[in-house]
Amino acid sequence: MHVAVFGAGYAGLTAVRRLERTLPDSVGLTLVTDEPYHLVQHELHRAIRRPDVTDTICLPLEHVTGRATLRIERVESIDPAAGTATLADGDIEYDYAAVCLGAETAFHGLEGVEEHALPLKRLEHAERIRAAVHAAEGGDIVVGGGGLSGIQVAGELAALAEEEEYDADITLVERNESVASGFESAFQRAVLEELTERDVTVRTGVGVTGADDDRVHLDTDESLAYETLVWTGGIRGPDALAGDRAATRETLRGENGTFYVGDSARVTDANGAAVPASAQTALREAKVAADNIAALVDHDLSGSGGFAPSLDRYSFDSPGWVVTVGDGAVAQVGPTVLRGQAARTAKASIGAAHLSSVGAITNASTLVRDEL
Ligand SMILES: Cc1cc2nc3c(=O)[nH]c(=O)nc-3n(C[C@H](O)[C@H](O)[C@H](O)COP(=O)(O)OP(=O)(O)OC[C@H]3O[C@@H](n4cnc5c(N)ncnc54)[C@H](O)[C@@H]3O)c2cc1C
Repeated sequence: MHVAVFGAGYAGLTAVRRLERTLPDSVGLTLVTDEPYHLVQHELHRAIRRPDVTDTICLPLEHVTGRATLRIERVESIDPAAGTATLADGDIEYDYAAVCLGAETAFHGLEGVEEHALPLKRLEHAERIRAAVHAAEGGDIVVGGGGLSGIQVAGELAALAEEEEYDADITLVERNESVASGFESAFQRAVLEELTERDVTVRTGVGVTGADDDRVHLDTDESLAYETLVWTGGIRGPDALAGDRAATRETLRGENGTFYVGDSARVTDANGAAVPASAQTALREAKVAADNIAALVDHDLSGSGGFAPSLDRYSFDSPGWVVTVGDGAVAQVGPTVLRGQAARTAKASIGAAHLSSVGAITNASTLVRDEL
């Protein structure tokens, strides 16, 4: 019997570590992912300003996994009906799999945006954004998308420009009526204040319609000049899932033995609520999916036949949200919105808790030291 985990982000690493503990040794376990490290993606924007943070937020997989066989390869496609996946260099068969491939940036077919804009999902993207801002010594910078990523990128770019004493004009463009749309209004207001205090011009209720070599076009018939254009305006499913996020119910089980977890899935939880794509969601979903896979394996191996085991159901329950805006931060903890040192501490402890949970204690303490 063989179990595969595809992807080693929050969802994949959590799933594989849990399966290493819970599956019998007789069951094969393979982790297939396209980078040799686990990236703490919710800190990725920090690498735009501080490239050396990479040492803290990239964990070599051989240090944080145990008995799982590692295959550093791209997953090209998955066939849940057959229980197979096509990899860049061969196929893999599985009885059960957790698909944890994350998401790609969605450009929504906006003319010229994919061609001209820099996304932020991978380490090399942060390097490219940093290089572009240095090459222009600041200049006109447009960030498209005012969700968690766009807010944090704009804040980081403002701090970078200040540290380098660049003359930079940063505009954040968001189609919705507020930044951090979908969050509580007190959180939105605090984020907006943090951005404007750092001289980021925030344009809400304004959609990007396209881009050419040096201008971003808006649905107000205006256009903005740019030297650097960053796009964080949405996500889509990975290419291995034909660009879709798999629609999945609360057990996270798709067809046959294939489970979908994290940003790769569009999950409706046990209460019928749509679950937001986020790091905290990916971590919690992965535990449910891994336990469900272990229960099914156990049932199959017992040879008892009969009814399949009842599976755990995922319910979305968030302890809160934190974003950094340069050296500032905003946290929503229950009904309370925190700013300043309290919010920074909350952000640092989330990252540190994640790093500690996968055994990267030194990285956790470095992160806290750098953030506070
Ligand atoms: C700049 C930024 C800031 C963010 N801030 C926050 C925040 O403050 N709070 C929050 O909750 N969320 C935040 N997020 C969102 C959060 O990072 C994602 O929701 C989270 O990473 C999803 O986890 P995941 O495991 O599903 O996917 P990922 O973490 O993206 O992991 C996907 C894994 O799959 C691998 N992979 C992808 N494609 C393939 C392939 N074809 N073949 C093999 N391997 C593949 C990748 O290398 C990676 O290991 C932020 C995101 C960004 C980009």
